[in-house]
Amino acid sequence: MAKKDEDFEEEIKEGIVGKNVIKKVEKYFFRAVREFQMVKKGETIAVALSGGKDSSAGLYLMGELQKKLPFDLIAITINEGGEYREASLEKAKELCKILNVKHFIYSFRDEIGIELDEIGKKADNVCSYCGVFRRWLINRKAKELKAGKLVLAHNKDDFAQTFLMNILRNEPERIARFAPVSGYSSPKFVTRIRPLIYCEEEEVLEYAKQKKLPFLAKACPYRKGAFRLRVVKFLDALEKEYEGTKQNALDCSMFMMDAVEGELKRMKCRQEIRECKKCGEPSSEGICMKCRMLEEIKGKS
Ligand code: SF4
Ligand code: ZN
Repeated sequence: MAKKDEDFEEEIKEGIVGKNVIKKVEKYFFRAVREFQMVKKGETIAVALSGGKDSSAGLYLMGELQKKLPFDLIAITINEGGEYREASLEKAKELCKILNVKHFIYSFRDEIGIELDEIGKKADNVCSYCGVFRRWLINRKAKELKAGKLVLAHNKDDFAQTFLMNILRNEPERIARFAPVSGYSSPKFVTRIRPLIYCEEEEVLEYAKQKKLPFLAKACPYRKGAFRLRVVKFLDALEKEYEGTKQNALDCSMFMMDAVEGELKRMKCRQEIRECKKCGEPSSEGICMKCRMLEEIKGKS
């Protein structure tokens, strides 16, 4: 999720971002890939590319990795609709052209039959719908494209925020799910990898700028009302006063992932993954979340 342009400019003027950011981001990226054995020789790796700074840097870095390890690299962009996505889609296309990466684009309109602005007119919690629909679609398409792994460019800040959100919402299962490598427990999911886990958001931004990557530095207009934004502000304020807060959250979430996973297995409350009766995609219930939410939003006037 991108910050506002003015925020980025201010951070750079203030010199918050370190000088050796290129070296640092690359070191952390390669460290994560190695440590969690994220990529296998010869497999197809799909990058979820939004056209924002994180996924653009993620695609570029995967291209760098490809120079050392042979694998097929592709990019997938989900077009949720609306002006904001049109603008970021152009950046995504531009980057794929520069890097010579095959780019696959799928829209909510064609694949799901509803667009973001329509959801926005019917519901306040647009992000909840958007997130579920996007995850459903990208997993389905990555499988069709025979991708062995799906790269999600979540950074250290995203990990800290998600960890805190999962605690505040009392969703321990999700703590286990948001891992450097996840989704491998069922063949119905394409394994997701998060190689930017050790990189801070501002470092990724500076990296993308110094590398002159095309990306959209504007935030989605629907983000304003998101619960995540409240958590971002809270963590940023804490980090200013108590340096290391985000790192502590990341360290704790890494510890908790394993602990929660173990506990869920011990309690035998790991839900079995079945196929949705409507769409055939993975679901822990008879009808998957995407199908239920889609029916609900389409039924709203
Ligand atoms: Fe979707 Fe919300 Fe992200 Fe916008 S901010 S792209 S609505 S999840
Ligand atoms: Zn379904």
